[in-house]
Amino acid sequence: MSDLETFRAETRAWLEAHCPESQRQPILKREQIWGGRNRVFPSADAQAWFEAMADRGWTAPSWPKEYGGGGLSIEEAKVLQQEMARLKCRPPLYEIGIWMFGPALLAYGNEAQKQEHIPKIVKGEIRWAQGYSEPGAGSDLASLKTKAEDMGDHFLVNGTKIWTTNAHKADWIFCLVRTDPSAPKQQGISFLLIDMASEGVSVSPIELISGESEFCQTFFDNVKVPKENLVGELNKGWDVAKELLKHERTLMSSMESMSEKEDFSLLELAQQYLSLNSEGTIEDGEIRSRIAQLLMEMEAFEQLNERMFYQYKAKQVDQRLGMLLKHIGTKQLQRKDELILEVLGNKALSWTAPTANQQEHIVTRNWAFNKSHTIAGGTSEIQLNIIAKRALGMAS
Ligand SMILES: Cc1cc2nc3c(=O)[nH]c(=O)nc-3n(C[C@H](O)[C@H](O)[C@H](O)COP(=O)(O)OP(=O)(O)OC[C@H]3O[C@@H](n4cnc5c(N)ncnc54)[C@H](O)[C@@H]3O)c2cc1C
Repeated sequence: MSDLETFRAETRAWLEAHCPESQRQPILKREQIWGGRNRVFPSADAQAWFEAMADRGWTAPSWPKEYGGGGLSIEEAKVLQQEMARLKCRPPLYEIGIWMFGPALLAYGNEAQKQEHIPKIVKGEIRWAQGYSEPGAGSDLASLKTKAEDMGDHFLVNGTKIWTTNAHKADWIFCLVRTDPSAPKQQGISFLLIDMASEGVSVSPIELISGESEFCQTFFDNVKVPKENLVGELNKGWDVAKELLKHERTLMSSMESMSEKEDFSLLELAQQYLSLNSEGTIEDGEIRSRIAQLLMEMEAFEQLNERMFYQYKAKQVDQRLGMLLKHIGTKQLQRKDELILEVLGNKALSWTAPTANQQEHIVTRNWAFNKSHTIAGGTSEIQLNIIAKRALGMAS
């Protein structure tokens, strides 16, 4: 048996022994486990599953062992992912520290910063928020105005961030701040870590049309931030920001993690809600071929991801492919949502009405929520500009 086959057999046995049956069901949003000082577990099983994975470092399987990660090679991490998918294991931890901040800190942080923050992310002890966007700086992020003045032994931060997802629940925030107002836009920006419990930080939730609120505006009013919280070099925060955005965009392209519930099967829903012919296939030829077309495109997208994986493995990454992923993945997800809505017809018109069942409510909410995927992490228009310029070499 090859090493990888041995690893697969051991991983399969370990998952079967440690993942409770209840954690092998599709997960609802309210059952997701997010990190944080005030972390809550929806059940004893969910806590046991989370702790087993975190103790092994498998909440961040490929991060170095010295910082509490799993220390797996990319091939082993992929095997773990496949085995978890085979058993339908729930993701043990939802956390932007895992998805975006951790990888950027591993690339740009100093030793003390990695020792301080990475193990806490792996263990889900600290919840992170992202402080990039401002009321006047979204797509044109480099025009941000929140400033950090050098006061000798600390930075003094003043300004505001907007659309900070879950800032009201976060313990720490990573922020882009202006440290040199006289330098050209991108060159005067630094990357700073701020404890949300610092004096002068306040958060105001923004109410959405759904009545729920994950978005916040975050205010910094004379906040003192220790100098050691600067990541990377002073005025070179844009490099860290770009590294982080790369991970954010890959995440947005590949995961339905922020949806109400993951992995609805288009085909299964179609078979459940549409009339079938005597052979058990969907009777309506038009919708059948549109479903087939989308499923083929989704398969092609999977293959594109697979190609990226082998490029990473061979350390020969074609950056142009990465630029395409977010745009294609998010659009595809939205097309799937639209088609699911068509399949369900007027059953998908309800948000909470008792005439519809829970699956039908979730389908409708996913459709509405997933619209945000082509905005978050950089809008599709901006992604298309990047693809045109950097991947296709078209003049602006
Ligand atoms: C679900 C979600 C979660 C988010 N979470 C966070 C978070 O945690 N932290 C954070 O900092 N931010 C967060 N954001 C904010 C997000 O990064 C911004 O919404 C995004 O960058 C767009 O900025 P904007 O909203 O200011 O839109 P704008 O930049 O004002 O854009 C408005 C419209 O104009 C278009 N446009 C702008 N410039 C160009 C151009 N040059 N060419 C063509 N079209 C253009 C855009 O594509 C868009 O359609 C989140 C957003 C969403 C939807």
